[in-house]
Amino acid sequence: MNKHLIIVSRQFLRVNVFSSDFFVFISRRFFMLVYFFIIGSILGSFAAALFSRNSNGESILSARSHCDYCKKIILFRDLIPIFSYLFLTGKCRYCKRNIGPFTFICELGFALIWLTSYSLFHSVILNIILSIMIYLSIEDISNKSVHFPYILCLFIFSLIYNFNPLMDFIYILFYLLISLINHHKEMLGSGDIDFILILMIINNVIDTLKIVLIGSCVCLICLVLTNKLRARVPFIPFLLLGYLIIICIKK
Ligand SMILES: [Zn+2]
Repeated sequence: MNKHLIIVSRQFLRVNVFSSDFFVFISRRFFMLVYFFIIGSILGSFAAALFSRNSNGESILSARSHCDYCKKIILFRDLIPIFSYLFLTGKCRYCKRNIGPFTFICELGFALIWLTSYSLFHSVILNIILSIMIYLSIEDISNKSVHFPYILCLFIFSLIYNFNPLMDFIYILFYLLISLINHHKEMLGSGDIDFILILMIINNVIDTLKIVLIGSCVCLICLVLTNKLRARVPFIPFLLLGYLIIICIKK
C-alpha cells in the first residue's frame, strides 16, 4: 500500500470525527488538493501558451497574451485557467472565432496530473518533472523534435529528485557512448536518448529498461494498427507512458 496513504490513514484514525481536529484535518487535505489543482491548471495554461508561441516563432516574454486571429490583447479575467474557456464557450471574446480545445485540455490535464501525482507520490519535484515530460511529449508529437532548453531543465530537476553522483556519472558516460554510436548510425532521435538518460537518473537501469520495453511494445502496436511502420515516430510520449505505468505499478 502507498506509504503516504498509510500515513494519512493513521493520521485519520487518530482524529476524533466529532472534534474540531477532524474538520481541521479534512479542511487541510481539501485545501492541499485544491491548491495543487490550481497550480497544475496555471502551469497547463503556461505550457499551452509556451507551445503556441514556440510554434509561431514568438518569445514568451515578447508580448501579452493575445488572440491568434484578431491579435487583440486578452483581458486578465479571460486568462483564468479552465473557467475562462468554459465561460467564453471556447471562443474569442472579440472576434468570436473558435480558440480550439488545446489550451483547455492542457489546463485541465495538468491540473488533474498535479492533483493525482501529489496525492499518490507526495512530491512537488516529481510533479514538476511530469509537467516538463508532458510538455516535451506535446512538442514531440507536434514537431517530431524537442527544444534542448526544456530537456536541460528536466535533467536538472531529475538530478534534484534523485542525486547519486557515482551512478549519475556512469549514466552520463553511457549516454555519451550511445550518442556517439547514434550520431553515425541514427536509430533514435537525440531527444529520445536525452530522455532515456533522464529516466535512468530518476529511476535505475532495470526500471528504465522496463520503461523502454513497454514504450517500444505500445509504439509497435500503434504503428501496426495504423499501418505506418516506416513513419518517423515521436517516441517520448511512449516513454512517458511506460514511466507512468512503472511508477504506478511500484506504488
Ligand atoms: Zn479574436
